[in-house]
Amino acid sequence: VPFDQLEGFIWLNGEFVKWADAKIHVLTHGLHYASAVFEGERAYDGEIFKLTEHTERLHESARILGFTIPWSVEEIDDACRELLARQGFSDAYVRPIAWRGSELMGVSAQQNRINLAIAIWQWPSYFDPEQRLKGIRLDIAEYCRPDPRTAPSRSKAAGLYMICTLSKHAAEAKGYADAMMLDWRGQVAEATGANIFFVKDGVLHTPTPDCFLDGITRRTVIELARRRGIEVVERAIMPEELEGFEQCFLCGTAAEVTPVAEIGPYRFEVGEITRLLMNDYASEVRPSLRVAAE
Ligand code: PMP
Repeated sequence: VPFDQLEGFIWLNGEFVKWADAKIHVLTHGLHYASAVFEGERAYDGEIFKLTEHTERLHESARILGFTIPWSVEEIDDACRELLARQGFSDAYVRPIAWRGSELMGVSAQQNRINLAIAIWQWPSYFDPEQRLKGIRLDIAEYCRPDPRTAPSRSKAAGLYMICTLSKHAAEAKGYADAMMLDWRGQVAEATGANIFFVKDGVLHTPTPDCFLDGITRRTVIELARRRGIEVVERAIMPEELEGFEQCFLCGTAAEVTPVAEIGPYRFEVGEITRLLMNDYASEVRPSLRVAAE
């Protein structure tokens, strides 16, 4: 079944519309000029993990792109919860997206309506589950994360995903699961839809998110590691350093914590700290398994 023909409902500008009927016009500004921002969230046991943090980031992404979403954070949170209940899933992926509409065509679209849609579907594993256990293989992307003076890099803006799709497709064509992207300075940045961590001598190292998305999962993993007494260092990481790291993993809402076995010529083991954080994350996201922070 094509993705746009699934059963169920999509929340579209305040209404629950049948999934297959949730359509927009071809002259939508968001389609032509990428004036769109989105989120990706996961529900576990019927509860959306860090929902309000995601909704606040959606509002912030829109603000960075110069528009205001005409629904409050509370209204969007409620819409996500109501749709989740209506779809009847306990574990699911949640995708809110806001974009400028089709009232006027041209680069300037100050008066175009701001639309909001929310879709919820079942998306059990972002990477192949078997590969995931052994650690996935990453290519090194040719495209770099842009200089913050070139693009609104703190926004989860649809336009920024053009280079992610290009990089992911290029990696897949070579048999890799995904690509590690460098930034405009040549420093390690992130994967095409997840942040990256390395382990060396019991310490976690991760790039400072100054020109790419500061993931909510990334922040969760840092908190979980610190709770375990594992030191976390946020710093500039050069690709030459990959040689010296023992473990590597990706993290993101869709990817959760995914071990990495290879990046280009570099090899990593699926080690103890990676396994520990995979398990801690899997418990943290489920209301029934969550351990209260001390
Ligand atoms: N970087 C990119 C490019 C992403 O698409 C994502 C997924 N939203 C992340 C990082 C991880 O962010 P989060 O943990 O908030 O899902």
